[in-house]
Amino acid sequence: MAKGKGIIIGGGIIGLTIARGLYKRGYDLTIVDKDVIGKGASWTAGGMLAPQSEGLDIDDFFKFCLESRDMYKDFTEEIVEETGKKVNYWKCGILCPAFDEMEMEYLINKMNEYKSVGKNNIEFKNFNLNGEWIDRSELENIYTSLGKDILGGVLYYEDGQVDNQLLLEALKSYVIREKIDIREKTKVLGIIEENGKFEAVKTENGKIEGDFCILSAGAWTGEIIDIPIFPIKGEMISMEIDIGEIDRVIFSSKAYIIPRLDYSKLVIGATEERVGFKDGNTVKGVMKLMKGLTDTFPHMEHKDIKEFWFGYRPGSLDLLPVIGEYKIENLFLATGHYRNGILLAPITEKIISELIDEGKKSPYLELFSWKRFF
Ligand SMILES: Cc1cc2nc3c(=O)[nH]c(=O)nc-3n(C[C@H](O)[C@H](O)[C@H](O)COP(=O)(O)OP(=O)(O)OC[C@H]3O[C@@H](n4cnc5c(N)ncnc54)[C@H](O)[C@@H]3O)c2cc1C
Repeated sequence: MAKGKGIIIGGGIIGLTIARGLYKRGYDLTIVDKDVIGKGASWTAGGMLAPQSEGLDIDDFFKFCLESRDMYKDFTEEIVEETGKKVNYWKCGILCPAFDEMEMEYLINKMNEYKSVGKNNIEFKNFNLNGEWIDRSELENIYTSLGKDILGGVLYYEDGQVDNQLLLEALKSYVIREKIDIREKTKVLGIIEENGKFEAVKTENGKIEGDFCILSAGAWTGEIIDIPIFPIKGEMISMEIDIGEIDRVIFSSKAYIIPRLDYSKLVIGATEERVGFKDGNTVKGVMKLMKGLTDTFPHMEHKDIKEFWFGYRPGSLDLLPVIGEYKIENLFLATGHYRNGILLAPITEKIISELIDEGKKSPYLELFSWKRFF
């Protein structure tokens, strides 16, 4: 007998990962998506697992990101085993090149700060926060061409990537195989409550009742309940790449450059704009990415372009996630993951599942509470 019936609004990486977690714990679930599952921002992302390369400040959010980074190997191995699908998790390391002296100083200071925190701060003692400065001369030996301004770069060994599109395919195949109820092309219009308790979701195709609900509608969350989550648009392109041509993710102020493990493509991202839901790629956006690529690797200008696309990061007012209980009892939020939703899927699932199934309250829930906006 199922423990209870949960409705998950949104079948992106967050909704699907939570669906898998709660299904394993014995819940009966319905996933509702206005479009199709396995797409959303999650499909459009770069798939980087990059808390150090992102240059995050030393705080609880950084710790949250590191915990999730450390969960990724097991998380993806389990999914591969369960589904027989590859997801191309790759702890390739991420190189952050410096294009001028100021950037070099900033990157080296950041790297040293991480190293020192990793050694001396008890809160971070379980994480590997190593990094290394690699000189231009060394990089010249590795890459076919190197932008003339690059002075060298900081390499973070523990950062990496997953092929987010393959991961979504695998998660989707999991929920289909387990016969989890999936309602696609079903837009949720609102939440129905009774005496302050969750009752049902109101959709354009009628209402769906449940014991509890998880709202994981990404950048569209603010259309369903009144919390300040808004879209932060990002444009991406992909190019052809030869096998072994670029050996790891390159993350700079100009662009990030992501060779997939199987070298099926080179993904380049991403612009960041607050323009609401404004679909399409722009000349400006694509040019910025191409310049970022060729400033890093000039020889890439001769490569074929494969694809252009765009997506909407779910950003909150302080750009931190919104996770946990809401003012309506049995309505849980798992949204606002902004630039790091792929990275944060495993830990988000963990704290939401533990909250629902065991009543266990992670200390992170206070930091990510919706109440901070009101
Ligand atoms: C260009 C770009 C690059 C990125 N790169 C990275 C990266 O390298 N690493 C990283 O960790 N993160 C990255 N991110 C961020 C990451 O993609 C997001 O944080 C993450 O995908 C959010 O996942 P989600 O499941 O919350 O949202 P989504 O994947 O957007 O899923 C939300 C789902 O909810 C559905 N939905 C919305 N409204 C309704 C409704 N009313 N009714 C029913 N269904 C609804 C949507 O159709 C969608 O399927 C990137 C994002 C972008 C845009």
